[in-house]
Amino acid sequence: MPLAPVGEELSPPERTRFARHVILPGIGDTGQRRLRAARVLVVGAGGLGSPILLYLAAAGVGQLTVVDDDVVESTNLQRQVVHGVADVGRPKVDSAVAALRALAPDVAVTPVGQRLTADNILALVADHDVVVDGADNFPTRYLVGDACARLGVPHVWGSVYQHDAQTSVWWAGEGPCYRCVFPTPPPPGAVPSCSTGGVLGASCGAVGSVMAEEVVKLLVGGGEPLVGRLLLHDAWRQEWSTLKVAADPDCVVCGAAADPQRPLGIEEEVALESESASAAGEPALPSISVAALALRLRDRDAGADAFVLVDVREPGEREVVTIPGAVAVPLAQVRHGEGDGLAHGADGIPTLVYCKSGARSAEAVRLLRQRGVDAIDVTGGVLAWVRDVDPSLSTY
Ligand SMILES: [Zn+2]
Repeated sequence: MPLAPVGEELSPPERTRFARHVILPGIGDTGQRRLRAARVLVVGAGGLGSPILLYLAAAGVGQLTVVDDDVVESTNLQRQVVHGVADVGRPKVDSAVAALRALAPDVAVTPVGQRLTADNILALVADHDVVVDGADNFPTRYLVGDACARLGVPHVWGSVYQHDAQTSVWWAGEGPCYRCVFPTPPPPGAVPSCSTGGVLGASCGAVGSVMAEEVVKLLVGGGEPLVGRLLLHDAWRQEWSTLKVAADPDCVVCGAAADPQRPLGIEEEVALESESASAAGEPALPSISVAALALRLRDRDAGADAFVLVDVREPGEREVVTIPGAVAVPLAQVRHGEGDGLAHGADGIPTLVYCKSGARSAEAVRLLRQRGVDAIDVTGGVLAWVRDVDPSLSTY
């Protein structure tokens, strides 16, 4: 079933512009009119959102709404091809709208420069035929997934990390929703993001293009949408494979006994978890500021202080920037109780731990303290060091 109605007839210039669609089996004149009558919500104008927006605008999708509350940073340009150097510092939605207007002036693009919340998501989703999720964070993914499932709107979803990607079309009523397959979010900080683990830029293009294909198919009612299948892509081995995924009859969002008043998204779940953690009396971690660390490093160089400074990031991150005088022990090794640099810390000499911004170092400090090491967290990690101590260094 096509999701978009057949709109007015194409004008002669439109017939020319979209000629390669008009002659294409499965789209044709009628399909192109459906695309022009379609309304698509794109969440995120980043790595996945860039190719999705560009291809959907080029395809003549009539109304695009783009949601993003970030500004363009220079680290985005390696993969977020809808933005250019001149856009650094600009809101991503403004930059994306300008690029799409240049490419396809007849497409109505509506920018939404706000964060999605449980209060604004339902009205936005209800106003569109298809929702595309290129978000880079779990709270947004669950919010979008839950809202689409509750309203029965198809939800084209993708996720890329390092050289691996996953994509699917969630559609409650026709197949699984996002919650059916991923019922609970990972604990905060447990899954590294592209900003800590890196991402192959072209993989965003590969998967974003697949997502745009799925949107076009759903709108014109052609082909076999990726409903009930999870498409996996390994760019490094250049493999694509699919897993069958099924709806969960007990799904808390789309199952038969789902509570229609259940709060959307995961904010309440996460808040409840951290409440129960603090109720369990988990002590605050001992920590040190980067400014205090700079003083202690100076004292250590002068022989007036003794401690071990451990960097729990990955080798590629250390190539970009490090705090001087650190020993490298990636978090995975800390988890396995390995690492030369840590042995010293066990003799009563404190071990100061840092990562990029604090999530991994907090986990490492917790683990080390359980083993009796006097471990201390460097607040804000190497990003805070660059910001507060040595702004001449590179960042990422
Ligand atoms: Zn479900």
